[in-house]
Amino acid sequence: MKLAKRVSALTPSTTLEITAKAQELKAAGHDVIGLGAGEPDFNTPQHIIDAAIEAMNEGHTKYTPTAGLASLKKEIIEKFKKDQEITYKPSEIIVCSGAKHALYTLFQVILDDEDEVIIPTPYWVSYPEQVKLAGGIPVYVEGRESNEFKITPAELEKGITSRTKAVILNSPSNPTGMLYTENELQALGEVCLKHDILIVSDEIYEKLIYAGHKHVSIAQLSPKLKEQTIIINGVSKSHSMTGWRIGYAAGNKEIITAMTNLASHSTSNPTSIAQYGSIAAYHGTQDPVEEMRQAFEERLDIIFEKLIAIPGFSCIKPQGAFYLFPNVKEAAYNTGFNNVDDFAKGLLEDVKVAVVPGSGFGAPENIRLSYATSLEALEEALKRIEQFVKENQR
Ligand code: PMP
Ligand code: GLU
Repeated sequence: MKLAKRVSALTPSTTLEITAKAQELKAAGHDVIGLGAGEPDFNTPQHIIDAAIEAMNEGHTKYTPTAGLASLKKEIIEKFKKDQEITYKPSEIIVCSGAKHALYTLFQVILDDEDEVIIPTPYWVSYPEQVKLAGGIPVYVEGRESNEFKITPAELEKGITSRTKAVILNSPSNPTGMLYTENELQALGEVCLKHDILIVSDEIYEKLIYAGHKHVSIAQLSPKLKEQTIIINGVSKSHSMTGWRIGYAAGNKEIITAMTNLASHSTSNPTSIAQYGSIAAYHGTQDPVEEMRQAFEERLDIIFEKLIAIPGFSCIKPQGAFYLFPNVKEAAYNTGFNNVDDFAKGLLEDVKVAVVPGSGFGAPENIRLSYATSLEALEEALKRIEQFVKENQR
């Protein structure tokens, strides 16, 4: 059967594809180390699991309001007050089936055919596909490696046309781990206000920040910027709840209402039980969040030094999230590969280390390694990569 034009050029998510491939090889008995997965390796904290079980036992197994339980929205509102010092009304929040679904729904309701969305590179793999699925056109603005992969206000302004509807900011970034500072956000925000462009601020890695860096949301910088911004966040990364599928969007009431109407005809509410788990995630102790953050930071400090010691690898030290994004162009060339995609394939085939090629993130000279896995596995993976590079050196 001929499929719809809309999906004819749609490719699977590279990140999920590599993760599945590594799992498949592992199941077939290969000694694969998967550094593809972008999800915390810790189990969900026990009190959250207990709350979900209790919810089931109490009969909370029915539909909830489409935009989420009032009691969960209350916790999300409290979180914004505490962390960003911004106040949202319940009507300005929609809880979705993961942050990915919140983004998808958002683009569906804000984009008309050929509206443009500015996506700084390197970007998270799903942004361009989601924009295209909504009929929009991704416009890439390069975040230069020499500027920590961040875009400047002048670069943003250059990408703006009369069709520009929105810009996506993702700080800390997947895949680079870089954070925008308050001053940088202020300057980018001024450009968005001047051209009346919606800011889509994906803050899913907000809680994973290292070396004393600070997360700032562009929405907290002024009431005007708050009005101009839709924040995307969720519990997947902060509370190690990727499988629960709870994320949310906060911002302009008209947009949130349109998203709710669309969800009411597609997914309905996000899973009731997962919503009860998420209430416990925000209401209860935040100690596990901090413990996981510390574990990631410890790993980062150990493996970063080992990574940059590999011949032909260079890397900016990430400030957040749980990815390393080294430029490996020189290593690929020195080992006889024409491009980094083939180098990444070589790593999987020869030394059984799964990494995600940077081409999926709009950065073809880089690879992404997730350090959301045990230190032991990480050290072994880096040993194998180093051995691969040294043995194949031309
Ligand atoms: N944004 C970014 C930058 C991500 O890395 C992810 C991880 N999948 C998401 C959004 C979506 O998260 P969720 O699991 O809540 O859909
Ligand atoms: N966000 C994670 C990643 O980038 C999970 C996979 C996905 O949702 O694409 O690897």
